[in-house]
Amino acid sequence: MKLLLQLSLLTLGLTLALGQIVPRSSWCPVPLSPRLPRLAAPVRLIIIHHTATRQCFNPQQCQQALKNIRADHLRRRFRDIGYNFLIGGDGRIYEGLGFGIRGEHAPNYNSRSIGIAFIGNFQVGLPPAQMMQAARTLISIAVQRRQVVPKYSLIGHCQTKATACPGIHLLNELRKMSGYRRI
Ligand SMILES: [Zn+2]
Repeated sequence: MKLLLQLSLLTLGLTLALGQIVPRSSWCPVPLSPRLPRLAAPVRLIIIHHTATRQCFNPQQCQQALKNIRADHLRRRFRDIGYNFLIGGDGRIYEGLGFGIRGEHAPNYNSRSIGIAFIGNFQVGLPPAQMMQAARTLISIAVQRRQVVPKYSLIGHCQTKATACPGIHLLNELRKMSGYRRI
């Protein structure tokens, strides 16, 4: 009985974690600079990326991946990690810059979009169903919080410039989602 209770509490905790945004402080000891440019909300565009890195399958791996991605972006002279949010292979939504901050992910589109990156390389691999579900959850949170208009356009990075990002397999999944636009 006790075990059953513990198990159900564990499942509940996992379900809650999967439906929420994991705060930046969980993976990054450095807080966001107050000088980062702001993003005027709500925006109309949601731009999906992949990180073209290895996939991560648990919170430890995903948090390490986030650190590596931020370090890479800082080496490339970005102000911080370039994405607003990232989706882990563990099905969690990780806060990057978060809402209200202008990202550095899609030149010419940064001031009117939110950038969401799927951790992994989806030119070669298929995105797991739980990552797609996490993205849908994040988008509904963004609409609820009026960070994105209800009639948003969901596009892949490759629709803004010549790039393989977010990978053909992820693009195929995006095409099935509501709000997907061909531009
Ligand atoms: Zn991209």
